Amino acid sequence: MSETTETIFSKIIRREIPADIIYEDNLVLAFKDIHPQAPVHILLIPKKTIPTLADAESEDHALLGHLLLTAKRLAEEAGLKNGYRVVINTGDDGGQTVHHLHVHILGGRQLNWPPG
Ligand code: 5GP
Repeated sequence: MSETTETIFSKIIRREIPADIIYEDNLVLAFKDIHPQAPVHILLIPKKTIPTLADAESEDHALLGHLLLTAKRLAEEAGLKNGYRVVINTGDDGGQTVHHLHVHILGGRQLNWPPG
């Protein structure tokens, strides 16, 4: 898949479709998942179009670090003191449905393991 592939998340970044945006900086955007799987379900995406984690390259090192540290900060700001889960579904077997790299931040209930 090419880096220019458009997804619904590209349209959210450009404000062409609405989303409940909770954080933005020059590198990333965070918004509430439209079908939340937990009381807190945030999606955190890079503004750079990287289709999947498998497409990330060494030049994305700092961006990926920023994503994880931002996930931690958003979880804290959401009040997830008792823990949370950070998930990056990758590719078909990983259950990825939107091909723009995204981090799920889930919390507010006891989460089960292993996932289905
Ligand atoms: P994936 O299965 O690819 O890891 O996760 C994609 C996520 O994007 C799903 O949890 C789905 O509910 C969410 N999603 C899909 N379309 C939209 C949308 O238009 N707006 C928002 N806020 N979330 C979406």
